[in-house]
Amino acid sequence: MRKAAIAIMLLGWSALCHAAPDNMLSTFDYVPTQVPFTHILDYGGVLGSEEYVAALQQGPPYLITHHELTITHPYFGPMCDLGRIRAGEPEISGEEAAEKYRQNRERVEAYIAAAHDAGVKVVTSYICLMTTGGEPDRRLGLWRFWDNWDAFDEFNLPPEPADPLTWQQRKPDGSEHHFYTKDHPAYKPMFRYSNCVNNPDYQAWHRWVVEEAARAGLDGVFVDNGGSLRCYCDHCRAGFDEWLRDRYTPAEIAELFGGDTSMQANLSAGDLRLAETQLFWQESIHKHLQRIRGWGAAIRGNFYVYPNGLHGRAHYMATRFRDADLGMDENSSGDFGGHPGIARRHVVAGLYMRNVNQNMMSFRWAPAIGANCRVSMMSYSGYPKRDEPNLGPNVNVGVLGLAEAAAFGGGGTYLMYRPTGHTWMAPVREEMNAFFARNADLYADHYPWGQVAIFAPALPTYFGDRTVEETARVSLDVLSAHGLLVDLLTEGTISPEALARYQLVVVPRVRILSDAQMQALVGYTNAGGRLVIVGDDTATRDRLGRNRPDEARAQLLQAAAVVLPGTLTALEADGAIELPAPVRDQEAGDAGGAAGGAAGGDLLRFAAYVDDWARPRELTVHCVNYDVDIGTVNDRVGSHEDLRLRIPLPAGMRATAATLHAPGAEDVTLPISAAPGVAEVTLPRLDIYAFVALELEPAG
Ligand SMILES: [Zn+2]
Repeated sequence: MRKAAIAIMLLGWSALCHAAPDNMLSTFDYVPTQVPFTHILDYGGVLGSEEYVAALQQGPPYLITHHELTITHPYFGPMCDLGRIRAGEPEISGEEAAEKYRQNRERVEAYIAAAHDAGVKVVTSYICLMTTGGEPDRRLGLWRFWDNWDAFDEFNLPPEPADPLTWQQRKPDGSEHHFYTKDHPAYKPMFRYSNCVNNPDYQAWHRWVVEEAARAGLDGVFVDNGGSLRCYCDHCRAGFDEWLRDRYTPAEIAELFGGDTSMQANLSAGDLRLAETQLFWQESIHKHLQRIRGWGAAIRGNFYVYPNGLHGRAHYMATRFRDADLGMDENSSGDFGGHPGIARRHVVAGLYMRNVNQNMMSFRWAPAIGANCRVSMMSYSGYPKRDEPNLGPNVNVGVLGLAEAAAFGGGGTYLMYRPTGHTWMAPVREEMNAFFARNADLYADHYPWGQVAIFAPALPTYFGDRTVEETARVSLDVLSAHGLLVDLLTEGTISPEALARYQLVVVPRVRILSDAQMQALVGYTNAGGRLVIVGDDTATRDRLGRNRPDEARAQLLQAAAVVLPGTLTALEADGAIELPAPVRDQEAGDAGGAAGGAAGGDLLRFAAYVDDWARPRELTVHCVNYDVDIGTVNDRVGSHEDLRLRIPLPAGMRATAATLHAPGAEDVTLPISAAPGVAEVTLPRLDIYAFVALELEPAG
């Protein structure tokens, strides 16, 4: 029933003709929330270590990722011994290499079986979307394997593909394109190569790597460099021509592209040709990730696909990663690192700077987009220099990290890096595994339900316009710090029905806006909705990047309750915008919670979900407290007692029961004091994370 309703909703938005699509991104059925989970990534010495496997039994991670379980070397192939090359020693023969491979494979199979026995559900290993390494003149690395192809015959090798030199990504002038650098120090005396996923010979090699992983018993693969495609090779050029002809009529190709279906060589062009070139690369990666899943699934029944490459642009979940299980956001930016909580950095003697680290924006994309993919947050303790004492994770940060995924991501995970030596990790996994399992029904198959929506389409990024992302991030920060329930909407999830759910909608400097999106926003205000437009240059271009005359966007600007010139930070200063009533009681206090005391209300963040948009019978309100000190030498949490929440209810509904669920604690039934449209509850205590589940019934 629900699926059918959503399908109909989306139909109105995907073009029914074969002309330029109204939604320039791919459309798909909305995938609701999933159960969050625990995750370890470790490239250290795990293979053959009995202690390592034994340690997994306490709080076994749902997902584990290693490097050593890839039987071949993912870049150099199964014949390369870099140590011998560097020592000037002769390399082993094809026969010896095959024997070594056979033994390695047995150890990998044994590890995978032991990890499963310990309770790990999904065991994955490292591969790369595009990298190989070798030296063609000296026949080293992958070329040595290519020369000895027959020696590996027993391992289900495909027919030998063309020379690996022909697999490379190409620049517009036909020369080699290298991500990072060809002279990568880690590869010396060999070179690093970047290959094209659209090249059938590269695909043959990659397929063998993936199939071998599946045959050894791996449940899936982690695909590094999951966005590194910037290729103009013959395969890409031909593919792009086909891509354009599939998306546009001949008349449109004549009008919009001057009849020229070549790829955009200038990455700062900002035009439709650039957007289509980038969307083509996104779709090429998507197809390749689907191929990887298919190769593995043909052997294993199903196969987990976990690419890297969200890096603060989690909206890639709408394009290249939309069918992946999980995408890594490698959060390495900033002076304060990426672990969630309160970060302090020493500046000069006795002087510290303080920052609230949170990853809400990345996580909020997942339920906003509604694709299958969720976020895995890999946080650094500062970058490039790590500062573990002040910016490293601790037991509270581990709980907070998983809380972010659970509350804001609609699933996904906080990555625990290298568990050896971090004794806090296993108890956190143990507690959170139990909590997620106990409440699986309250996590899975839910739909975001907020008071405010930020419409943040991904399309402008492909035109090279990143202002939407930046402005949406600031808007989310400002509004959620007020204690409001804030959702994102994207081009795949905006519709008149979706907009109608929100009391306030923010359009964060969306210069590229489709006519249909503009009409939906105007229709929303006609039906009584309040629209905040950030940027008086909003809607100056249409979905194809063409300039839109002022008179054609005047109606939208006039429909807005307010048009702010810059960013939403102005909201705080002048209070010009009438906001919905926040969830958190204002008496919880603002500012300075980290100094101790009962304040710190502005460090609370909330998100809510319903079991059904059309007929809600259950509302879950997740509460996350960021008043947690980061750093391995710290353990302070600014807990709240008697925290009063004012929970807005879906129209026409009343709450009949409220239960508080918190990790490591018994469930607590909460008394409800009802006011029209609102249920008030008081949490006896909130440490880092809890959620309230309300049962609903029609008020009449
Ligand atoms: Zn290519």
